[in-house]
Amino acid sequence: MTERSKDNVQHAVQVDAQYKVQNKAQPNPVALFVSDLHLTASMPKTAQAFFDFLTREASRAQQLYLLGDIFEYWAGDDDLDEPFNRRVVDALRAVSDAGTRIYWIAGNRDFLAGGAFAQAAGLTLLAEPYTTEIAGLPVVLVHGDALCTDDHAYMAFRQQVRDPQWQAAFLGRPLAERKAIIAGMREGSREAQRDKPMAIMDVNEGEVAKLFSACGMKTLIHGHTHRPASHETAHGVRHVLPDWDCDHGDGGRPRGGWLSISSDGQLQRHTLG
Ligand code: MN
Repeated sequence: MTERSKDNVQHAVQVDAQYKVQNKAQPNPVALFVSDLHLTASMPKTAQAFFDFLTREASRAQQLYLLGDIFEYWAGDDDLDEPFNRRVVDALRAVSDAGTRIYWIAGNRDFLAGGAFAQAAGLTLLAEPYTTEIAGLPVVLVHGDALCTDDHAYMAFRQQVRDPQWQAAFLGRPLAERKAIIAGMREGSREAQRDKPMAIMDVNEGEVAKLFSACGMKTLIHGHTHRPASHETAHGVRHVLPDWDCDHGDGGRPRGGWLSISSDGQLQRHTLG
């Protein structure tokens, strides 16, 4: 860690309380943000929680931002007809058809989702970092994995799999073979993570400062680290989304949530359950 990033760590203050929402009726939000659902057929309660979120919450919003790792993995758009994938795509499509604009930033697990997926789900693929203004609030959106630069092994892997030539070659393999390779990668990644210190898998504060400076925004929203919190830094506020898990239980409680921006440009944090 450089001296500069150490300095930034010291000045990052957790400021969650001011973004927590009381449990009362909220006006229709302009935009909602979720990430890290890790949807898979083997976690049916989590999938159901997401479908409920789409029906009850996302349908009332003008915009829904999916900020990566919505799927546990995506082997390619030729897997659209797999029954679980089809259910998720149809649920997104219903919300989109009803008038909510849906945007997608790829995660490290579902970056192979492409144009056919986007068309079927009725959503727009965005490149990261994506900057926009929502209800007068300028925000920058990323999945978050590109900020974790202390994990050198992961960054090398990311560079490889985000290369268009690598992707074209991979997508040229039969679907069953791709799924087998991905299953092997997920097992390898679980093993690698067990041996990595926790700090390595969090964002590098110097990288966060660089992103704030490069885009000129003071509000950053991302997922990936599964460490939901709002951090005030010298350059802006970094809001981290939670991952979702309603199947394995946090002492029997569902885990998950989302961020919203209301019509007056206020950003708020909502917790599942
Ligand atoms: Mn991720």
